[in-house]
Amino acid sequence: MAHILRTAPSMLLNIARPSVVPGSPAGGSPSTAGPVDPSLIEDLAAANRILADQGVLDGYGHVSLRHPGNPERYLMSRSLAPELVTVSDIMEYDLDSNPVDQRGRTMYLERFIHGEIYKARPEVNCVVHSHSPAVVPFGVSSVPLRALYHMSAFLTGGVPLFEIRNAGGMTDLLVRNPDLGRALAKTLADKPVALMRGHGNVVVGPDIQLAVYRAVYTEVNARLQVQAIMLGGSVTYLEPEEGVLAATNIAGTIGRPWELWKKKALRK
Ligand code: MN
Repeated sequence: MAHILRTAPSMLLNIARPSVVPGSPAGGSPSTAGPVDPSLIEDLAAANRILADQGVLDGYGHVSLRHPGNPERYLMSRSLAPELVTVSDIMEYDLDSNPVDQRGRTMYLERFIHGEIYKARPEVNCVVHSHSPAVVPFGVSSVPLRALYHMSAFLTGGVPLFEIRNAGGMTDLLVRNPDLGRALAKTLADKPVALMRGHGNVVVGPDIQLAVYRAVYTEVNARLQVQAIMLGGSVTYLEPEEGVLAATNIAGTIGRPWELWKKKALRK
């Protein structure tokens, strides 16, 4: 991995190839933001594997990390099923989602989700986009996804719904260009999670561990909420004040499930 980020690939590219690549800024590919602590790249690869192992990502979906050395760059795997991602698959992008050093690698069509959210949310350093199955029904139902227990307290501020028809009319539901990415980021606003109607959801956090934690417990909350509703009585959800108290407490403990999930996912 290290060699990818330590060289100046855009300089090398300019010697061997035309300086302007379609879809990249005038003057050629964006420059690299430089080397990244290898343990962070390992965590990003682990996040892919954890989210697959926990049933949040399947053959589709992706997770990215803002470059720690330059807020105008982010890191994400080449187009690959998350469960297969290793450190050598991680690529660097600018916030318009142009690759720094593509080298023929295919890219996720929906990478604009990541770039546009990083533009809109300076405090966000990790973005997860998934088709997390238990969450999908809440994107198509009039029943809102709501925090049911302390582990999903981060949902108590509300979960906005992205209706892609409002942004793009009739589409294939994919966030395949910057305009749709921007519209999704606008819907997400200052929240940790947004639902995407007929598609999936997006989860963000200030670091990898918290974003992964939130993505896992968004899925679990959705599953439990359906079960609570199916019991047939009324459901008591967390109050916003309880949400703040619970989220504050849990933030100090998420290293515990992270280590467990990582061990299980990397064992495979
Ligand atoms: Mn998708």
